[in-house]
Amino acid sequence: MLLNRRWDAIVVGAGPNGLAAAVTIAQAGKSVLVLEAQATPGGGSRTAESTLPGFRHDVCSAVHPLGVASPVFRRLGISDAVEWVYPEVELAHPLDGGHAGALYRSIDATAAGLGRDGVSWQNLFTPLVSDLPRLTPLLLGPFRLPRHPIAAARFGLRALRSVRGLAHAHFQDDTARALFAGMAAHAMLRLEQPASAAFGLVLGAFAHAVGWPVARGGSQAIIDALTTKLREHGGEIVLNQPVVSLDDLPESRVVLLDVTPRQALAIGARRFPAYYRRQLGRFRYGPGVCKVDWALSAPVPWQAPAARKAITLHLGGTLDEISRAEIEVHHGHIPEQPYVLISQPTIYDATRAPAGRHTLWAYCHVPAHADEDMSERIEAQIERFAPGFRERILARNVLTAIDMQEYNANYIGGDINGGIQDLRQVFTRPTPRRTPYITGAKGIYLCSSSTPPGGGVHGMCGYHAARLALRDLR
Ligand SMILES: Cc1cc2nc3c(=O)[nH]c(=O)nc-3n(C[C@H](O)[C@H](O)[C@H](O)COP(=O)(O)OP(=O)(O)OC[C@H]3O[C@@H](n4cnc5c(N)ncnc54)[C@H](O)[C@@H]3O)c2cc1C
Repeated sequence: MLLNRRWDAIVVGAGPNGLAAAVTIAQAGKSVLVLEAQATPGGGSRTAESTLPGFRHDVCSAVHPLGVASPVFRRLGISDAVEWVYPEVELAHPLDGGHAGALYRSIDATAAGLGRDGVSWQNLFTPLVSDLPRLTPLLLGPFRLPRHPIAAARFGLRALRSVRGLAHAHFQDDTARALFAGMAAHAMLRLEQPASAAFGLVLGAFAHAVGWPVARGGSQAIIDALTTKLREHGGEIVLNQPVVSLDDLPESRVVLLDVTPRQALAIGARRFPAYYRRQLGRFRYGPGVCKVDWALSAPVPWQAPAARKAITLHLGGTLDEISRAEIEVHHGHIPEQPYVLISQPTIYDATRAPAGRHTLWAYCHVPAHADEDMSERIEAQIERFAPGFRERILARNVLTAIDMQEYNANYIGGDINGGIQDLRQVFTRPTPRRTPYITGAKGIYLCSSSTPPGGGVHGMCGYHAARLALRDLR
């Protein structure tokens, strides 16, 4: 029935961007149908009992600075519908010897733990945090001439540097350098690449400005809020409905694709002109990830006190060590000592595990399409900073980079950002055009994280695409 009628808009893919697009269009009074390949909506923001009964794990996204900062989540009422859980320590970066760098919401509290680098941390982040409201449209939208050129220039001059260059210019000791490098390494770039510092600056600024919270009950709560809003406005979702060709879609005035360029080509090539097909074909994907979830009998016994109070941790040691691990990945090798991103939500959210028990979430970077189970190497990194960790493991679930693509067709080769986010592709995402959401075919839009502002659960790609699509629906 739903597949037989005519719609104003069809959205392919019920990830955070597809759903944000659908809600934006439905809220404007237009009819919307979302078609999702999998049995549940959510894409990279689902929660599941993937180890033992009663242990609820975030399969993909876990920590949501971009979610709380997202203008569209605020506008759609998603931010208010989700209960955000804030940690005492936003981020801990353990180092050998039982010590950890700690990032707090307060810049001063962070600086106080960084010894002689404290003042430099303040000098780096204080202006950035005060500029953040003026920079947000630039950071969370397509590239435009900035409305606040001084703030943009101040950010840009630093953001264009490499992680190594910026960390060495600003900090003298391993702790601050590693704390910064761990944030920047989210970008999955080599720490020596130009503009690799940008992610560290943005994530650090958001940590100080809005925090790095998790959603109570799991990231699924964000999706539940989006699907509830969609239905309130009359939108519909059909699950288990992989779209193989755009020719098979029900009739509609516009189509929004929450998929990456390679899939757009696979399902819609016939609709796109040759020049656009060529442009999409040149889109580059990045390394993959291996994801591990554990059910634990007790919290991780971190040596560093700050690490016990943090929801997010970065493991991998010093900037030099993280750099080595990332270079290996970029050369197609499996790193023996990977850089690991950790989240321990049950420290603050007891709803996710049986009483007294805990969950732990981690992933590390691996070469694209790697089928390597990294759980041994990740556990060795955790043991390094939390001896006795292995004794607390009740069960684990591993998703290799190949499994990630199987789980979500958007994760090409295990790339979780919908395409590499280096200097060139940040500005030409997915193709070099002024309005990146518009495709070469009238009425068809791309709205996934392969468009600006890129990866993360913020819905902004979907929002920008939906606003353009709404012009066709006037
Ligand atoms: C391990 C991991 C950790 C992460 N951690 C974080 C984090 O802590 N914080 C954060 O903000 N972000 C995080 N992310 C990134 C975040 O999940 C993604 O950037 C985000 O989900 C992208 O949203 P999207 O809507 O563009 O695409 P997706 O979430 O990938 O959704 C795309 C949807 O489209 C569907 N689809 C694809 N092809 C078709 C088709 N042909 N027909 C029908 N449906 C189709 C897919 O099944 C999927 O549901 C993480 C991702 C991973 C994998």
